[in-house]
Amino acid sequence: MSGILIVAEHLRGAIADISGEMIGAAVALKAQFGGPVRVLIVGHDAEQLAPSLNLPGVDEIFTVRSGNPHFDASIAEEAVVQAALQFHPALILTGHSSAGMSVAPGIAVRLGSGFAADVLAVEVNNGLVKATRSGYGAKVNIHVEFPGKSVVVLTLRGATFNAPDGQGNATITALSGEVDKMAPGYEHLEFIEPPSAGVDIAKAEFIMSVGRGIQDEKNIPRFAELAEKLGATLGCSRPIADSGWLHKAHQVGLTGKVAANCKLYVALGISGAVQHLHGMKHVETIIAVNTDAHAPIFNVATYGSTLDVFEFTEAIESML
Ligand SMILES: Cc1cc2nc3c(=O)[nH]c(=O)nc-3n(C[C@H](O)[C@H](O)[C@H](O)COP(=O)(O)OP(=O)(O)OC[C@H]3O[C@@H](n4cnc5c(N)ncnc54)[C@H](O)[C@@H]3O)c2cc1C
Repeated sequence: MSGILIVAEHLRGAIADISGEMIGAAVALKAQFGGPVRVLIVGHDAEQLAPSLNLPGVDEIFTVRSGNPHFDASIAEEAVVQAALQFHPALILTGHSSAGMSVAPGIAVRLGSGFAADVLAVEVNNGLVKATRSGYGAKVNIHVEFPGKSVVVLTLRGATFNAPDGQGNATITALSGEVDKMAPGYEHLEFIEPPSAGVDIAKAEFIMSVGRGIQDEKNIPRFAELAEKLGATLGCSRPIADSGWLHKAHQVGLTGKVAANCKLYVALGISGAVQHLHGMKHVETIIAVNTDAHAPIFNVATYGSTLDVFEFTEAIESML
């Protein structure tokens, strides 16, 4: 058993971001874990999409043509199991996404492998995989090891690992076998687009988030205007989204979005509950404004102020 097999993900003719992120995670492990890094893409248009997976550090890309023009978990699972039996990878990565989660457990059962889901960090110690995932509502990080398992299947959390930049020099090979003759196991009915709120917390580099400290829904437009003037994306804590003051897409945290690309995070009137911290505590520069000097947000803040959030806002507004 050696090397890493990545199960690439794509939707409606485009490679999903998680595919590059899994490649980034695998390439980072390659030095300790040993190669090769192989990427498998299964789908009706696998051959056309394969060149987009040719990122630095990838050694080989394999395509499997599926008879179903849409994602089909039974075909994908079979293709991965066949590839695993052919290449004997020690680690198999899928996305922690609807597609990834619909194939990964089945692959793990069929291969008798170790398994962990929603993994946010992976290390290798003495050749053995150690995965980190959250537990107890993101209050703790759990390290999972897989003693006695020669192969491990992990689903990786999205917007957590960085995709490599640039062009790789992987070979691309079409795999032939029984999979392309398989009858579709799923019937695609339609795509339903999620309602768009025009914000993408995961991609934003500068986020200004508001919490219950802003006190009233009628204050939202003021903070929205301030965020716009500052060039920030407006985020919020869960009670703000739950109350319908802002669309759920603005919510940062465990049940919201992780501010994965954020460099500057301003938390206004947010206490810093663990579930909120889950989405932003990693950010390089955090500015917190909270009248309670003991609020947990100050444990992760780079700069803090115990000013009233409205006084703070007024001071900033007067400078713009
Ligand atoms: C399973 C689960 C998942 C969850 N997921 C999320 C999630 O994804 N995201 C999330 O945010 N929460 C999440 N929560 C909720 C979380 O536990 C907290 O309840 C929530 O984050 C608190 O929001 P808040 O900080 O806005 O409100 P509060 O905790 O009420 O804090 C308000 C803060 O504002 C300060 N304040 C008040 N007035 C002012 C003022 N005038 N000026 C300055 N400061 C002021 C107060 O001192 C206080 O610290 C989840 C909870 C559970 C159980």
